[in-house]
Amino acid sequence: MMRIVDIVEGTSVDGPGLRTSIYFAGCDHRCPGCHNPQTWPHDAGSDFTVEQVMEVVRRADFNVTFSGGDPMYQAERILPLARAIKDAGYTIWCYTGFTLEQLKDVPGAPELLKLIDVLVDGPYIAALRDTTLPFRGSSNQRVIRLTL
Ligand code: SF4
Repeated sequence: MMRIVDIVEGTSVDGPGLRTSIYFAGCDHRCPGCHNPQTWPHDAGSDFTVEQVMEVVRRADFNVTFSGGDPMYQAERILPLARAIKDAGYTIWCYTGFTLEQLKDVPGAPELLKLIDVLVDGPYIAALRDTTLPFRGSSNQRVIRLTL
């Protein structure tokens, strides 16, 4: 089971093209100015099985984005879903408040990174806010191609 706050089909702001965005519960980064503070509690939203999420992903038939919250707090639990999404032929973008370097110490994150195509990393820093940057909120964040 994964804890998910919302699943949005057909969003255009969380990566290229129309995508299915999955907003996972839980974030301890607490960036000032965060757009989604309602996702911070780790028990926000509801429990979902892999099959419940895959039903939405298949029906929408878009590539997928993991957002939140910070999906990396549930990295171990998300692994089977990430495998199912990749097996079904979709790409995965993932947003995280951790840096890529920090993720090597987060349980399950190194394994999850192997299934992610593009990682947008780092906390949102309001002083570095830049609305001209595609798919990220502040200039410290990096769009890192892992497999694409
Ligand atoms: S990492 Fe993302 S969800 Fe978490 S507090 Fe920062 S901006 Fe908000």
